[in-house]
Amino acid sequence: MNTNSRVYVFDTTLRDGEQAAGSRLDVGKKVEIAHQLARLGVDVIEAGFPGSSPKDYEAVKAIAEDIRGPVICGTSRALLADIDTCGKAFANAHRPRIHTGIGVSNVHIMGKFKDKKYGATLEHKKTRLIRMAVDAVRRARTYVNDVQFYAEDAGRADREFLFRMIDAVVDAGATVINIPDTTGYAVPEQFGALIRDITDHVANIANIRISVHCHNDLGMAVANTLAGVGNGARQVEGTINGIGERAGNAAIEEIVMAMRTRKNFYGLETSICAEEFYGTSRMVADALGMPVPANKAVVGQNAFAHSSGIHVDGFLKNRNTYEIMSPADVGVPASRVVLTARTGRSGVRHRLEQLGLVLSEEELEQVYERFLAVADKKFEVFDEDLRAIATRDTSEQGDNQNEK
Ligand code: MN
Repeated sequence: MNTNSRVYVFDTTLRDGEQAAGSRLDVGKKVEIAHQLARLGVDVIEAGFPGSSPKDYEAVKAIAEDIRGPVICGTSRALLADIDTCGKAFANAHRPRIHTGIGVSNVHIMGKFKDKKYGATLEHKKTRLIRMAVDAVRRARTYVNDVQFYAEDAGRADREFLFRMIDAVVDAGATVINIPDTTGYAVPEQFGALIRDITDHVANIANIRISVHCHNDLGMAVANTLAGVGNGARQVEGTINGIGERAGNAAIEEIVMAMRTRKNFYGLETSICAEEFYGTSRMVADALGMPVPANKAVVGQNAFAHSSGIHVDGFLKNRNTYEIMSPADVGVPASRVVLTARTGRSGVRHRLEQLGLVLSEEELEQVYERFLAVADKKFEVFDEDLRAIATRDTSEQGDNQNEK
């Protein structure tokens, strides 16, 4: 059993999260979000899929060169050309990791590798897939020292084959093994047992970090993730606000606050600076155009609102009666400061930061001018007003200046 209490947080908002229907971020926006994720204190940022498009290549490269602190991870299929593209994107990276992998369930093997060139029978295909995975990991190791391997659809895989695959890629140099519940099919007891089985049966797994990547199709992404760490996984994968393919990924803010609030139960810790959750949540929601539901755990507008008379009365006497976390712990502005024309620059800057908007001195000056114009007309400037003021396209102004 894993006795190490440190759990690593792997954020895939920019990869799996961005895949969410209809959302596309430009390179600048991705870099901005990556900076915020670094402030939040995630251990790994999965920045994109360099082989998928020139834009994704550029984004991964820019993030890997710009961001200090977290490991920057690029995704790649287990194809040598894909790995080479990923390796090139990382030529000047500070702390790169290549994340490659292959389908391991019979459904995936017979579906995605139907072609005879992968072998005539299921057994032949399995042998071929292990060789492809080993070659991919070896090639990735020629570019970086840190290689994560995903065993896609591991939850539905034949255990004996899954163990063989993990054993082979660890031998080939994989440093982290990701066990994804790709289709969101797992339930906590069963998913936890799968992780325990891997730690018990794969001979060379002792010094390898196991990662869990869960989807929310049955609303159990966070529960499955926690079952994973309860059984020895020490890296959790998720996204801000739980955005992602279909019903989304495990929400990082929920995983982390569950471990923190119930430390007496889990006995685990992360390096996350939870006060950054609220600002990060709003930044991601704005960038992707996916508003946070009011009742969303941890970061929803109503997550700390008390309305029933009995609750409010109890809460006002002692907040512990109806609150298990303090809003300040996750960066929700607790005591509301009213913004008026007399608030001043530092008050405006503070509120902007709480809203996830970090500006340069010059930008702040421009925003402050516009803020004063609005504040003169309105008695109180609300958060939504301030956000609109701050995110208003400033290129208009710049163009005018050029014309002059
Ligand atoms: Mn996924």
